[in-house]
Amino acid sequence: MILPVPVGRSFTYAVPPQMAESIKVGSRVVVPFGNNKLHTGIVLSAGDSADSSGYEIKEIAELVDTEPVVGGHELRMWEWMADYYMCALGDVMKAALPGGMKLTSETSIRLIDDFDDFDSLTKSEMTVMDKLSGGRHKTMEELHKAAKGINVMRVVRSLMQKGALEVSETMVETFRAKKEVHVRIVPKYLDETALNELFESLQKTPRRYALMLKLAELASVETAIKMRNPQLMEEVSRNRLLKEANVSAAVLAGLKAKGIVETYDYEIGRLGGNAGSVVDQLPLSEAQQAAFDKISSEWQRHNVCLLHGVTSSGKTEIYIRLIRKMINEGRQVLYLLPEIALTTQITQRLQRIFGDEMGVYHSKFPDAERVELWQKQMSARPFSLVVGVRSAIFLPMQRLGLVIVDEEHETSYKQQDPAPRYNARDAAVVLAQLHGAKVLLGTATPSIESFYNTTIQKYGYVRLDKRYGDMLLPNIEVVDVQDLLRRKMMQQPFSPPLLAEMKQALESGEQVILFQNRRGYAPVVECNACGWVPTCEYCDVSLTYHNDDHKLHCHYCGNTFLIPEKCPNCGGYHLRSFGFGTEKVEEEVRKLFPKARTARLDLDTTRSRSSYRNIIDAFSEGKTDVLIGTQMVSKGLDFDNVRVVGILDADTMLSRPDFRCNERAFQMMSQVAGRAGRRNRQGYVILQTRRADSQLIAQVVEGDYMGMYQAQLRERQQFFYPPFYRLIYVWVKHRDEAVVNETAYLLAQQMLRVFGGGVLGPDKPAVARIQMKHIRKVALKVSPAMPAAEVRANLYSIVGNVLALPRLRSAMIYFDVDPQ
Ligand code: ADP
Ligand code: ZN
Ligand code: ZN
Repeated sequence: MILPVPVGRSFTYAVPPQMAESIKVGSRVVVPFGNNKLHTGIVLSAGDSADSSGYEIKEIAELVDTEPVVGGHELRMWEWMADYYMCALGDVMKAALPGGMKLTSETSIRLIDDFDDFDSLTKSEMTVMDKLSGGRHKTMEELHKAAKGINVMRVVRSLMQKGALEVSETMVETFRAKKEVHVRIVPKYLDETALNELFESLQKTPRRYALMLKLAELASVETAIKMRNPQLMEEVSRNRLLKEANVSAAVLAGLKAKGIVETYDYEIGRLGGNAGSVVDQLPLSEAQQAAFDKISSEWQRHNVCLLHGVTSSGKTEIYIRLIRKMINEGRQVLYLLPEIALTTQITQRLQRIFGDEMGVYHSKFPDAERVELWQKQMSARPFSLVVGVRSAIFLPMQRLGLVIVDEEHETSYKQQDPAPRYNARDAAVVLAQLHGAKVLLGTATPSIESFYNTTIQKYGYVRLDKRYGDMLLPNIEVVDVQDLLRRKMMQQPFSPPLLAEMKQALESGEQVILFQNRRGYAPVVECNACGWVPTCEYCDVSLTYHNDDHKLHCHYCGNTFLIPEKCPNCGGYHLRSFGFGTEKVEEEVRKLFPKARTARLDLDTTRSRSSYRNIIDAFSEGKTDVLIGTQMVSKGLDFDNVRVVGILDADTMLSRPDFRCNERAFQMMSQVAGRAGRRNRQGYVILQTRRADSQLIAQVVEGDYMGMYQAQLRERQQFFYPPFYRLIYVWVKHRDEAVVNETAYLLAQQMLRVFGGGVLGPDKPAVARIQMKHIRKVALKVSPAMPAAEVRANLYSIVGNVLALPRLRSAMIYFDVDPQ
């Protein structure tokens, strides 16, 4: 049994005789755990295995599913993940299943506001609803106590299915596509006799009758029937229908349940051409066709193939061909995208082509929707294509044939917190292997690891050097800021060449992207008199001034602070600020180009629902002229009219204390630069730096991926870093600095003794305290010659030894395998 708890692996329970027949691997059960609290668990194996732990074996309380909700391949991947990333199997289960599928005593539940179909509820369901009325939310445990004698888990599950309840943790603001739910009558009633009979049968339910009458009117159903053309029906939005018919959502739900009407996502429905009609695919260019053929032949010899295609080479079009081919062969495709790119052009384009065959999965979608998609994937008619972010790797697949990992170099594929700290790209390779499926990794700037794997024949390799339509790669000009500063020629963050280019672009109606990888207004604030710098109360980090709310923000814990009226150190009255965050860059652009319409794309402007999409759409439609942003501006976007890209400060990227610093800087700058250029004219990139003569800058300018790769690889080999050695970080956290120090010290000492070399630390990370917790890190470089299982066993036993000391027992220790 797997339980959603952060300890151990699996747990043994006794199967009561009445369940013995129907219990299956992959099904959910409810079991008592710990203080006899109830948890939903997943059956990992069932049989007569004797348990040797010596603990008392409890009985399964309830069998939730008669059919598995997780397939065998998925369970194998969960086990691999727990092993490889050194975490509890329960952590993986927690990450994998949507909240509504893993109720525990602690799960908090609440009413859904617009539910009012109380007629359909049973007596126990009403009791539970009563306990939740008045907008309160309660945990399962509290409900259990309040509603004595009722099987709360079962009742809550059934109420969730009826749309009356939801898990209350899911009401976070979400990234969602703009959409509107529309309603239509199902096609079989688009016939005069059928429609008359339907209305006849609805006579007894006046509210349903009223709703259908309104729907028929708004949708011009009669006309459609008369002209024998269903396409003449008008679109009807759900909200308008409910308002005009003056009935509740429950009435609609009832009609939907009876199969009389259906609801659909208007935008998706429209893009998909309704029920799965297929938009024509574009013919591939010669270069694209050659790449397509080569991918297929690489798959004869390798399970994984890397498609290394420059920006705008038309990789998406190739993916579309491969997806179509797989679907035609009756297999499923999983298409992974980095978090932020999900709401953009690529998804829309896929939706237009694959319509009803495609589902979209995002961990920030409301829980009910995630559960629905999950269940669909386990049903007899799953989606053939699922497009999703990192966590979509957990969705059950029945006939998986291909996983595409787009922008495979992206760091957001790696989950940082909480466990499992997995990389979805690497998990995809494992998952595909279990299914006998292929993997395609696509990017313009491969990660060093993936490229290395092609050179040792582990992965296949296909290169696409030409941009689609023979568009030229942008021309990159390096501007030496050091020199300009000396000659006092910088105008705030802009060099004269950048200003000149911006001016020309704006005058001729073209667009500009400015890239500054710092949000807020001013990254540094300081007392004019004594040099005091405001820092976060909870983290060891200086604060950034934000002009939007005139406050100081901590970018680590998110707390904000008022600007002190006078310096707390010397009592002086003048705080001054330095540096340029995106807010200040925007302000400067507005000063210099008062007519330009500007927009900002960073974490602060994209917090609310769909604001990311709105900003991107406005820029693509030419409603804004200058887009200023953090690295968000580099992600998977394709604009037509961008003449200039300005990289305002390359140096912040070049000076991070991290062995991947140069690789990341190259990727980020190449990706941003790739946004410049238009159909028939070369784009221009101005790259401002104080290190104009550095080798990496030259490699970015030349588009010399191989040069960067070889230089990095030499360094990695020399200093025992990936891909030659594996890295495992051991993190220690505690509120008490002395505890953290001692724990980390003992860990490092014992690791040195066991592993000999390869131990670095303990180190204080750059931000050594976050949210009141002190942090230390011990790094281990693992030679490929060491068996992984042995390394893990050693690490676990070292941690066990250290935590056995009573004074260190409360230290938090966890592993990060293959850290980013
Ligand atoms: P990449 O993902 O490699 O950066 P895209 O797939 O976004 O490139 O393609 C770049 C541009 O070229 C897009 O605007 C796309 O619509 C266009 N394009 C790519 N392939 C074709 C094709 N075969 N026919 C017409 N347009 C294409
Ligand atoms: Zn001062
Ligand atoms: Zn903080």
